[in-house]
Amino acid sequence: MSHNLIVAKFGGSSMADYISMQHSANIVLKNPAIRLVVLSASAGVTNQLCLLAVGQHKKQRTSILSQLVQMQEAIINRLIHQEVIRNKITCILSNIQALSKTAEFLQSSELTDELISYGELMSSLLFVEILRERKVVAEWFDVRRVMRTDACFGSAEPKLSMLKELVQHQLKPLVSKALIVTQGFIGQEEKGRTTTLGRGGSDYSAAMLGEALNVKRIDIWTDVSGIYTADPRLVPSAKRIDKITVKEAFTMATFGAKVLHPGTLLPAVRSNMSIFIGSSKHPTAGGTVVCHENHNLPLFRALVLRSHQTLLTLHNIYILDTFGFFETVCQLLIRHGIHLDLIMRSEVKLAVTLEETWSFVIASDLLNPTLLTELAACCKLEVEENLALVSIIGNKISRVKSTDQKLLSLLDSCNIRMVFDSYPQFALCFLAPTNDAKQIIQMLHYKIFE
Ligand code: ADP
Ligand code: ASP
Ligand code: MG
Repeated sequence: MSHNLIVAKFGGSSMADYISMQHSANIVLKNPAIRLVVLSASAGVTNQLCLLAVGQHKKQRTSILSQLVQMQEAIINRLIHQEVIRNKITCILSNIQALSKTAEFLQSSELTDELISYGELMSSLLFVEILRERKVVAEWFDVRRVMRTDACFGSAEPKLSMLKELVQHQLKPLVSKALIVTQGFIGQEEKGRTTTLGRGGSDYSAAMLGEALNVKRIDIWTDVSGIYTADPRLVPSAKRIDKITVKEAFTMATFGAKVLHPGTLLPAVRSNMSIFIGSSKHPTAGGTVVCHENHNLPLFRALVLRSHQTLLTLHNIYILDTFGFFETVCQLLIRHGIHLDLIMRSEVKLAVTLEETWSFVIASDLLNPTLLTELAACCKLEVEENLALVSIIGNKISRVKSTDQKLLSLLDSCNIRMVFDSYPQFALCFLAPTNDAKQIIQMLHYKIFE
C-alpha cells in the first residue's frame, strides 16, 4: 500500500562518486519500504553545467567538459557491465557539448534548464546500474513524465493536480513491481520543454512525489546527520536537533539553511507527511525528524546565515502620499522581475532585500539602467552589497525583546545594518557585513546554545 512506502532522496554528495553511490545503495538495500528513489546530480555537476550555460570560450568549455567526462568515466569504470551505460552517458555528454557550444553565442533560460537537467539524468542512469549490480530489481524513470510545471525556467513550479494524476496513473503502478529511480530538480512544461525547480530543488521534487503517492514519510539523505542548531561548517560545535516542527524547519530553510529546500516543507504541511534527514555516509548516526508535534518548543531553535544579500533603500522625496509611494516603487521593481524578499518601511523610506533568483545572477545585475532611471524619477536610491542576513530562528521570538536583554546587548556590539521583524513569531533577522557574519553567528551560537 502506497502510504507505507518511503521515498528516499539522495543529494549531490551521496551521488558524488562510485563509493558514495555504494553507501547510498546500502541504505536502499537495507530498507525494503523504499520504493522510489529521487536523485540529485553528482556533487559539483550542476555548477559545472551552469558555467557552460552562461557561455564559455572553447578552451574553458573543453576543460569543463573533460572534467565531466572524467567524473562519469571514474564511475563507469568500476561497473561490471559497462557498455550499455557508457553509450547512454556518452550520448548525454555529446548533447551537453552541443548545447554548451550554442550557449557561447546564444544564452537563454530555456537552454540553461535543458543543459543542467543532464546532471540528474546522468546520476540516475548510473545509480540504476549500481543497484542492479547489487541484485536489486531497479528501473529508471524519467520524472518529466509526471513532474509537469509552469514555464518559469530556472524556478519552475510543479502543477500539483496534474502531478498527482500522472503519478497515480504512471508511477504508482510501477513502484509495486520494481524499485524506481528517478530525478529530482527537473520537470517539463506544457510544450514539452525541460524546466528546473531552482537550485537545491531535488528535496522539493522528492516531497512533491511523496505527497502525490500519499506516503507517510520521505527520507532526505545528505552529508550531515540531520538539521543542526547552525550550519556545522560554520559552527563545528553546533548540536543536532532530533525533532523539529515543520514550521521551524520551513523558517530555517526560508532564511537560508541549505540543508532543505524551503518547498520541501509545503507538502509536509498539507499532507501530514514526516521528513527524516540523515547522512548517507553515516546512516546509523541518526538524524532529524521534521514532524507536526509542537509542544515544549524552545524560544531559540537555530541560527541561519544567508550570504550575498543586496539591500535597496528607497527614500521618498517626491511623492507626498506614503502609500502611493510604496505602491509606485513596488510595482516598478516587480515589473522589472525583481523579487522582493524582506521589507521594512517607514513614513519616508522603504528598505528591501533582493532575493537571488538564479545562482549566477548577482542580484544587483537586475538593476538595469532603465529601472534605475525610472526609480530616480520617484525616489532617491541607495544600493548596498556585501551583506549577509543572520537569522535567529525560534518560537514566539518577539518575546526576546523584553526577556533577553543580554542577547540584545550582544547584538549591539555587532555591526548591524538593519533589523527585520517581519516574522516576529519565528525569526529575528538582521543584515550585517559579509565579513563579520560568520563571527556573529559563532558568537551568538556560543551565547545561546552552548
Ligand atoms: P545535498 O546535496 O545532499 O542536497 P546540500 O549541500 O544541499 O546537500 O545541504 C547539506 C548542507 O547544508 C550541509 O553540508 C551543511 O553545510 C548545510 N547546512 C546549512 N545549514 C545547516 C543546518 N542548520 N544543519 C545542517 N546542515 C546545514
Ligand atoms: N542538482 C541541483 C543543484 O545542484 C538540485 C539539487 O541538488 O537539489 O542545485
Ligand atoms: Mg540540497
